[in-house]
Formats: sequence, C-alpha cells, structure tokens
Amino acid sequence: MSPFPIRLTFHGDLPFFLEAKVSTVERQLSEKASVKDVIEACGIPHTEVDLVLVNGQPVDFGFVIGGELVIDVYPVESQGVTSFAENRLQVRNVRKFVADGHLGKLVRDLRLLGVDVVYDPPADDRQLVSIASDEHRALLTRDRRLLMHAIVRHGYYLRSQDPLEQTLEVLRRFDLGSALAPFTRCLRCNALLESVDKAQVVDRLEPLTKKYYEKFRRCPQCGQVYWSGSHFDKLRARVETVRASLTGQS
Ligand SMILES: [Zn+2]
Repeated sequence: MSPFPIRLTFHGDLPFFLEAKVSTVERQLSEKASVKDVIEACGIPHTEVDLVLVNGQPVDFGFVIGGELVIDVYPVESQGVTSFAENRLQVRNVRKFVADGHLGKLVRDLRLLGVDVVYDPPADDRQLVSIASDEHRALLTRDRRLLMHAIVRHGYYLRSQDPLEQTLEVLRRFDLGSALAPFTRCLRCNALLESVDKAQVVDRLEPLTKKYYEKFRRCPQCGQVYWSGSHFDKLRARVETVRASLTGQS
C-alpha cells in the first residue's frame, strides 16, 4: 500500500494536547489504521474526543482510515451539544470516578462534596484501568497514556495542576454542579456516612468534643467519626470556595 495523506483538524481546546499547539495536522499513513489510533498518535486520548467527522460524516473510534481523508475532531463541549447529538462519543453524566495516585487533594475535595471517587495510591496502571472498566467509573489522571487504553470508556485528563482548578474542571466536565452532597461521604475511604447516636461513639471522643457536640456521623467502613468541630469550619469554607468559583465562571 503506497503512503497516503490525511489531514486532521482539532477543534476547541484539543490543540492543548498537541506538541505544536496548532489546530491542523497533516500526516502520511503507510497502512490502514483506526481513527482512534490516528488521533491518539497525535497525543490526544480518545476520552477527550466527543465527535469525529470524516469527510463531514460522523464515525466511531473503530472507523478504519485507508485512504486520503479529511478528519475533524471535536472535544466535549462545555455549553452542551448543538449538532450531531446522536453521534457523540462521550457521556457527560458520569457519577462515579477513579483517580490515579497523584491526585490526593482533588480526591479529598470531591469526596468532601459527596462525589464517589475510588482512590488507591498503590494501584498500578493495570489496576486503575480495570477499576474504571469493571465499575464503569471515569478515570481521572494527568497521564494521557492511561486514558489511551481501549477499555477505558470514560475518563478525563486534568489540564491544571492546581487542586481547586482540577476540582472545578471535573465538576464542569461531568455536570456535577447540581449533584453535590457535601459532608455525606468519608474523606478517608469514600463510603457514605451514617448518623450515629452520641452514646455509640462517646468513648472515642476527647473531653471537649464530648462536652460541646451532640451530632455525630460515622463511616461504616473505616469507623472514622465526624462532627462539626473546628476542622469543620475549614471544610465548609472549602465547599463554599468551590461553589462560588463554579457559579462565578459558568
Ligand atoms: Zn471511611
């Protein structure tokens, strides 16, 4: 098969992933390849691609490129879908996540807001990818190779390295703003908290906590006890910061 040219145009913020940061890339292919492989060879994980048009027609990731073509690649749009709604390749309303081992602060923020996030820092790449696939969780990472695994159906590459910005990115990408339930989930292990009578936890409390607080919640999984003590003000301030930033920029 003699080499043939293809032209890819990357829309929206997708040039972010390209080395040259340009929107149009010309390539020579010497053999047939799936559109997923061709896009990922440019550095863009398939989880970031919401629509692919080949000569103006929508295709899925398995589409085989075997000749001269013009390919348009679109990201997940922040303002909702206006065209080719039936042919979108990503879903927005994922409610369960798994984060890679470098994202502890993001995970804490998300759990504080009530979002379900599996986090197991010792997990290796294969385990992370399996958790995402088996439990239908979106994989959150700054490792784009991880997102290129074919079995990863949903995922997101965090653009920022700042935990607050990362939290906002995830809330926006997956439309989580209206699904938040702060203070309902264990920050340590992700389980949903249960209300518990003071009498059941009183032997574990410091004298002042025992004296001044009446309402307690406990994690059924790891046993951590939560109450609205001094640490609570910091957490509540964090929730307010996230909420204000979310509404301020949407
Ligand atoms: Zn727990």
